Amino acid sequence: MTKKSSLEIQLVAATEFHPPADIDWSPDETATSGEALVEFAGRACYESFDKPNPRTAGNEAYLHHIIEVGHLALLEHATATLYIRGISRSATHELVRHRHFSFSQLSQRFVHPEEPEVVVPALIAKDEDLSRTFIRAVEDARFMYEELLSGLEENLANEPNALLRLKQARQAARSVLPNATESRIVVTGNYRAWREMIAAHATEHADEEMRTVAVAALKILMEQSPVIFSDFTITKLADGTEMASSPYA
Ligand SMILES: Cc1cc2nc3c(=O)[nH]c(=O)nc-3n(C[C@H](O)[C@H](O)[C@H](O)COP(=O)(O)OP(=O)(O)OC[C@H]3O[C@@H](n4cnc5c(N)ncnc54)[C@H](O)[C@@H]3O)c2cc1C
Repeated sequence: MTKKSSLEIQLVAATEFHPPADIDWSPDETATSGEALVEFAGRACYESFDKPNPRTAGNEAYLHHIIEVGHLALLEHATATLYIRGISRSATHELVRHRHFSFSQLSQRFVHPEEPEVVVPALIAKDEDLSRTFIRAVEDARFMYEELLSGLEENLANEPNALLRLKQARQAARSVLPNATESRIVVTGNYRAWREMIAAHATEHADEEMRTVAVAALKILMEQSPVIFSDFTITKLADGTEMASSPYA
């Protein structure tokens, strides 16, 4: 029985800043660790820990300024790690194109789910007939996958290493699994990389699933570092789905 998967994104790690005790500067109490670190890195460039410019003395004003002037390398000091489940292999393929992230993705060679899950594209999910056609297609593919798998295991019976045998069989058979197959991925990125990914995929023109992932990631990061992502605005499109954009990204 094929299970329909739904997107689940969790923050599993984020920057923890330890201000040097011998420097006479402390971040605003409202600043998150990541935001304080970005300010610290900026002030370290000019030894401006005494906050000489009253306009940018506060953490929020300081960060808005660096985003407005494009001093974005400072954002690379702070990172966040998200664990994403219920995402399709086609969407993770788009995600892994972003070269400044670090990834660890569920292995289709090691893991053989008893109850395979798929991500049904939203446009198909809202139509009952198309949903049935979709599920039939993924179940046919799954059936063929299992057929290939048992044939390959038979052909590889002389391989004494059981794990190697399984991996070889699964890696060949998986080529018939659909793009919709559910995947799981740990993604670590600095705030500049997250901003770039979100700006690229939260637009109206992006793939809908990737747009959903980008907007969901943005909401988590807005909670994690509200100032650094405050230039993004989330709006609703005519079909009720969400998009996001920023004048600075
Ligand atoms: C709506 C949409 C449609 C897409 N359609 C397709 C498609 O049809 N086919 C396809 O192949 N891809 C497609 N992509 C993927 C796209 O081409 C990029 O690979 C992906 O968005 C990663 O973005 P990036 O390369 O700008 O940056 P990242 O890898 O995220 O890097 C961020 C930035 O770092 C800099 N950078 C990184 N690496 C280098 C480098 N080697 N040299 C110089 N500068 C670098 C660039 O400024 C880059 O913008 C699509 C993406 C989107 C958002």
